[in-house]
Amino acid sequence: MFEQTNQELKSSNIKYHSTNGKSPEVTFKEALLKGLAPDGGLYMPDSYPHFTKDELESFSEKAYHELAFTVLNKLIGNEIDESDLRKLCLDAYNFEVPIEKVYDRKYILRLDQGPTASFKDFAARMMSRLMQQFLSLNNQHITILTATSGDTGSAVASAFYGLKNINVIILFPANEVTAMQRKQMTTLQGNIKVVAIDGKFDDCQMLVKMAFLDPSLSGLHLSSANSINIGRLLPQSVYYFYAWSKLSAGIKDRAIFSVPSGNFGNLMGGLIAGKMGLPYQQFIIATNENDEVPEFLRTERYKSIIPSKNCISSAMNVGNPSNLSRIVAMYGGTMDEKGNISVSPDFERIREDLFAISVSDDDTRVTIAESFKKYNILLEPHGAIAWYGMKEYYLVNKGNISEKQLCISIETAHPAKFSEEVQLILNQSPSLPLSLIGIEEKSESFFSMENSYNLLKEFVLNNQ
Ligand SMILES: *Cc1c(COP(=O)(O)O)cnc(C)c1O
Repeated sequence: MFEQTNQELKSSNIKYHSTNGKSPEVTFKEALLKGLAPDGGLYMPDSYPHFTKDELESFSEKAYHELAFTVLNKLIGNEIDESDLRKLCLDAYNFEVPIEKVYDRKYILRLDQGPTASFKDFAARMMSRLMQQFLSLNNQHITILTATSGDTGSAVASAFYGLKNINVIILFPANEVTAMQRKQMTTLQGNIKVVAIDGKFDDCQMLVKMAFLDPSLSGLHLSSANSINIGRLLPQSVYYFYAWSKLSAGIKDRAIFSVPSGNFGNLMGGLIAGKMGLPYQQFIIATNENDEVPEFLRTERYKSIIPSKNCISSAMNVGNPSNLSRIVAMYGGTMDEKGNISVSPDFERIREDLFAISVSDDDTRVTIAESFKKYNILLEPHGAIAWYGMKEYYLVNKGNISEKQLCISIETAHPAKFSEEVQLILNQSPSLPLSLIGIEEKSESFFSMENSYNLLKEFVLNNQ
């Protein structure tokens, strides 16, 4: 009796609601396993736990997996056993998280050392382990259906490969991922089914959303591994705390983070960290030529870009980012999945927190060349966009910003993942990280499909 009351009290801590406001509130476990809310909205925490000054100061001594445990325990500790969570973190984060100094207090946070050499490993590895943990307790089974612009698919495939209670179906735009990205998904097989869609990333994402909202599939236990899943965003708050704690001189030393953005899941991790007490000055959100979000903040009108533009930073070719409705919600507004705004967010406050900039392919290339020549720093297109965004931020804020300001620019992929582009610009090929060596020779298997919901539905029904 006492146990039960205690349990109820604890699990009433943080509930998750839909950005569309028309679904019942759920626990973290339910939000994680569902992915999308039944009303088509995205799950958001009702409230955020806050770290004290002492807690924040203790972070600098923690290894990455320890800090991941500390942050996630604060967020979801009421729903998972502490020692289980500790083990999952240790197992998920078994790779380096290097921080490279460029000059003064300007740093590159390299999130490219995971098994698929992309920052998406941080989220996918934790999310898959949390799902497996919750499912195995009740002997349940789910099918993950996810769309990828390249890196999500490989990270998700790697993170979920071989898990007993989970089947994975990944859709990718046939002509928009690199051979290396494709092979990271298609060479695993087993519980990982990969489908090339004759369309763009936004088409893949739309197909996935349609499947989730299709009542005739509701018996299947479909879930999502896209950044529409809140289970991907919470783990992404950890590296903001990590980088800040390793570089700052105390809680008054607030960092500027430059975040290369496409679907804005990475940024959401930063904003969640901000709510939990991360000392930040501002977030720079740097997009490629798909500039719908910078334009939205400038004009206060939202216009998606369909079809999205093909830029060399292919993982950011997103013309209608799903996390935008979460950003809008964080600042008091309401936006549905089609991009219609029924309650306007507080744009003043958004602009206080976020500095948005769109970067052309030409400027991306020049940045890769310059940062290599000037600082011997090797960037790939996504990280280069963040670095360019930071340089622009300094130009725009000239006079108002100290050269001593702590700035952390995020590199989201290993340059070897985009070696064709880097080779063209620098005339040399980045060496492969260990995890990617040998992948070119492995045999592939994947399905090809027209951009048709009926075909997808049939495929899902045949491959649960
Ligand atoms: C997915 C991805 C991004 C964009 O991250 P979002 O969370 O979608 O904004 C940036 N860089 C790389 C290499 C990616 O794979």
